[in-house]
Amino acid sequence: MLGLGLLVGTLLVGNAFCGWICPFGAIQDALSWVRRRLHLPTVTVPARLDALLRWGRFAVLGVVVFMSYTTARLWFAGYDRYVTLFGLHWLFGAESADFWIALVVLALVVAGSLVIDRFWCRYLCPLGAALSVASVFSLVRIRRSGPTCTDCTLCDKPCPVGIQPSKAAPLVAADCIGCMDCVATCPVRGALTVGARVPLPLPGRPKEPEPDRAEGRQTGHEGKRK
Ligand code: SF4
Ligand code: SF4
Repeated sequence: MLGLGLLVGTLLVGNAFCGWICPFGAIQDALSWVRRRLHLPTVTVPARLDALLRWGRFAVLGVVVFMSYTTARLWFAGYDRYVTLFGLHWLFGAESADFWIALVVLALVVAGSLVIDRFWCRYLCPLGAALSVASVFSLVRIRRSGPTCTDCTLCDKPCPVGIQPSKAAPLVAADCIGCMDCVATCPVRGALTVGARVPLPLPGRPKEPEPDRAEGRQTGHEGKRK
């Protein structure tokens, strides 16, 4: 039921779950904040390598689906870095070999997130992979207006998942997590907007005549004049 709600929500407003609800997303943002406060270096992954590594999420998703199918249980749950961190098993000692694997996964994710913004979300999260596919069809997306945008690229800098809203043509990439940092940063009014991809029939909004019908009326009117 939760999964269905998440899917419907993503189809409506995009992947806001990762930007606003996911606790591990918040932890990664906190780690980025710590890095900035301590003036630690940020690793910038070259664009080509970044594009390649992003497929890692789909590889993890494929493994999780395959293993869950063959073992008839949610296979990833044993290594989930969220459960490892908040389950507090690490406080009370190792219970199994799975625990140590889970601890290594958690350590890798924390170390990665300390040097790269949203490291887990960008390259490894299977849920993020699934939601980014659903986001392709989402009703609401951030849109860039080519004629209004000045190509200053200021909006690219705050993006935690390394998308380039300044290159959106016109919709931002489906990897967007809806944090709205780019919209807040853009200095040009109307260059980046959030809206539905199709006109919604909102109450009180005057209806514009469809072009072919308008033409039809015009033709009829001209006919009467003759
Ligand atoms: S900064 Fe903009 S493009 Fe990047 S994740 Fe946030 S809303 Fe999406
Ligand atoms: S900050 Fe605004 S004006 Fe500048 S590149 Fe981004 S969308 Fe265009």
